[in-house]
Amino acid sequence: MSVVFNRVAIIGIGLIGSSIAHGARESGAAGSVALYDASESVRARARELNLGEVFDSAADAVRDADLVVLSAPVGAMGAAAASVKDALKPGAIVTDTGSVKRAVVDAVSPHLPQHALFVPGHPLAGTEHSGPDAGFASLFHGRWQIITPLDDARPDYAAAVDKLEAFWRALGANVERMGVDRHDTVLAVTSHLPHLIAFNIVAMAEDLESVTEGEVVKYSASGFRDFTRIAASDPTMWRDVFLNNKEAVLEVLGRFSEDLAGLQRAIRWGNGKVLYDLFDRARRMRREVIDAGQDTATPNWGRDDGKA
Ligand code: NAP
Repeated sequence: MSVVFNRVAIIGIGLIGSSIAHGARESGAAGSVALYDASESVRARARELNLGEVFDSAADAVRDADLVVLSAPVGAMGAAAASVKDALKPGAIVTDTGSVKRAVVDAVSPHLPQHALFVPGHPLAGTEHSGPDAGFASLFHGRWQIITPLDDARPDYAAAVDKLEAFWRALGANVERMGVDRHDTVLAVTSHLPHLIAFNIVAMAEDLESVTEGEVVKYSASGFRDFTRIAASDPTMWRDVFLNNKEAVLEVLGRFSEDLAGLQRAIRWGNGKVLYDLFDRARRMRREVIDAGQDTATPNWGRDDGKA
């Protein structure tokens, strides 16, 4: 694999930042990798893990970088951009990995100098784990990387978008381009709302103290367990997602609540047809997800622990 960027700097060495470091080095897409994290203990751990050249200042990390990846929580993206702005070299491409795009574009853009090219992005890949130990090179294999180019008429902007796309393809991702606001609406439906529901169900079960201690955990394999996996995701990250994709989430949540009330009514009045038709439609959606390569048809989500 040929080098796409001579030097890649990663700001924020969590699950995503460390996975990019692994992937960029393993694939050969980066000639060298520089890293910085606001947390001293994370920087120390990144050194132990040999993720690349770890710096004690964000400015030093990005000084010679051709690509700068901001991979801090969404609410910290503005501060991360501010910390690198004076050290970006002319023509440096800046991207991010934030799960929300409009708020990140608004927070990052004002900080960046004219000579930098900002191409926002979002890898649709993750696990419920966080921190530098959680990263691995194959995280992005076969997953979608969404790139949300801005309205930037500069002649070198289109080339920057192409180059970023080549970088993500080298890391094994499929790449799709999308508008910033479109991204936020699509992700509110496919990711943000499902996480909100999982957090809510798990917290509700915890509140029902009479059953939580015993039965809920004991019989969790009957459905609840998969919600607990989603609800184990990083609380800082998800707090920031909901604070920063407020409008789109509230819109789909309104629709969800209405439909849920419809199901409630169907159960109350014994309307089996309404229930069956909806469950049947939902079941077909599962088939589409598998056909699209977004999951396997293996029973039990590919786990081999033998539980139903
Ligand atoms: P993470 O594991 O929590 O790591 C984020 C790291 O960034 C932490 O070590 C944090 O340090 C550090 N940080 C905070 N503010 C910073 C700053 N101003 N400068 C430098 N470092 C800073 O998070 P992650 O899961 O890798 O997520 C990173 C980004 O990718 C987020 O925007 C998230 O929305 C997005 N994303 C996540 C997933 C996922 O499944 N996890 C998937 C796709 C996209 P402290 O802990 O000390 O604050």
